[in-house]
Amino acid sequence: MQEITIVGGGIIGCSTAYFLTRHPSYSPDTHHITLLEASSTNSGGRTQDSIQDPATLANPTTASKRNPAHDGIAGGASGKAGGLLALWAFPKSIVPLSFRLHDELAREHGGDKRWGYRRCWASQVDCKARLPAGLDASGPAQPPSTDGGQAGASKGLHKDHKKATAALRKLGVPDDFDWVDATESLGAYDNIGTPDDTAQVHPELFTRSMAQLAEDAGVRIVTGARVTTINRSPDESHVESVTYEKDGQKTTHPTTHCVVAAGPWTRRLLPEIPVSASRAHSVVIKAPRPLSAYALFTAIKLPTGFRTPVSKTAQHGATKGVPLRGQQVVEPEIYARPDGTAYACGPTDDVAPLPLTTAEVEVDEARCADIIAQVGGISDELGSDGEVVARQACYLPQGGPYIGQVGSTKGLIVAAGHTCWGIQNAPGTGKLVSELIFDGKTTSARLGSCDPANVL
Ligand SMILES: Cc1cc2nc3c(=O)[nH]c(=O)nc-3n(C[C@H](O)[C@H](O)[C@H](O)COP(=O)(O)OP(=O)(O)OC[C@H]3O[C@@H](n4cnc5c(N)ncnc54)[C@H](O)[C@@H]3O)c2cc1C
Repeated sequence: MQEITIVGGGIIGCSTAYFLTRHPSYSPDTHHITLLEASSTNSGGRTQDSIQDPATLANPTTASKRNPAHDGIAGGASGKAGGLLALWAFPKSIVPLSFRLHDELAREHGGDKRWGYRRCWASQVDCKARLPAGLDASGPAQPPSTDGGQAGASKGLHKDHKKATAALRKLGVPDDFDWVDATESLGAYDNIGTPDDTAQVHPELFTRSMAQLAEDAGVRIVTGARVTTINRSPDESHVESVTYEKDGQKTTHPTTHCVVAAGPWTRRLLPEIPVSASRAHSVVIKAPRPLSAYALFTAIKLPTGFRTPVSKTAQHGATKGVPLRGQQVVEPEIYARPDGTAYACGPTDDVAPLPLTTAEVEVDEARCADIIAQVGGISDELGSDGEVVARQACYLPQGGPYIGQVGSTKGLIVAAGHTCWGIQNAPGTGKLVSELIFDGKTTSARLGSCDPANVL
């Protein structure tokens, strides 16, 4: 009997659970797989007024598809990432495998409907943010105008169609890229990825689907179970058990194979694996009409008088309401989604250290307000005409990815530190870990730079 324990219910842990159950050697009679997730809620790192079940976004009358027994799954970055997938991502050793597996998973399980899988474009855009109506370059608010601010407000592309289409063509912009203000904001457009090499998923829905499919195939999922120790044999030659806390009780669970997929928390269990963590904020905005499938890497010039962004090191709300004295360039990423929303994320910050679990992640609403103002400064669909449905924060795992056995301890495997491409590289990681456990080596791809032996 093999007892396989996965630590962490993010996209890496859940994809690993899924691929273990799809390995030809897997049998629920001879392999017990347990996934332990520290949190039992997804409300950490999200403001209270944020949407709780993204499955209902595409159709608000859809009954919740959320399995409440899985709350806590995807409570960290795996539920709050953008979800861009690309053949041009890194590291090169695992990207092609993982991109292909995403496509196969979507075909097999109806991922287009279940987790918003679709092919998309990726573009770099240089823009200039418009000042909100009522502000001018000197900063202070102007007296309210008699026309309700309309005269000074810039027009969105869809409101002045002929003029905007001409402006778009001049910049070489595809005709259907029509939700950034081409007349006043868009300065330059460059293609980075096409639907041949670029796609997207809704990360929370994908992760929860992997968890459900794994559970249906025999995996035991325990939420609210925080692993405190991985117990190795006295000579450290193999893993013996893991100890976890749940509801104030300590349990020691016998384990032959332990996969540590604890994302930014990995170093707390495996200090020898150099994964670090940085907080990042993001928002989800519901647009008044469907948005064409573009993922944007932006450089947005904020004019004098615009809301000053909170800096990397500033405490909560430090710059609230202060108008910019000079210009500043910001680089939020904006991904249109098939559910009628756009996701936008801002920079990382160094203010709040990694808390104990995802449940304690704090949102700095001033940082969310920055992102909302910046994307609203280049698009009416995401600004004056949009509705903010989520304000959130999470911790980006950095340093890796590391995938493979930890030192000479048999059965101890790390799968963590996936940087800004963990959604893209999750299926490939899960597949490779399943091969390491069942075959003793990877056969679908080389580990290359991902092998933890490189840093141990
Ligand atoms: C703003 C932002 C945007 C991003 N956009 C993209 C994108 O577009 N495309 C892309 O490919 N990637 C993207 N990423 C990166 C991606 O989100 C991460 O690489 C990925 O989610 C990491 O997954 P994970 O499972 O390793 O970690 P996590 O999602 O952090 O999951 C780790 C889990 O382990 C649990 N855990 C921790 N310690 C313990 C313990 N002791 N016991 C039990 N459980 C424990 C945690 O509670 C958590 O649920 C983005 C990241 C950020 C921050």
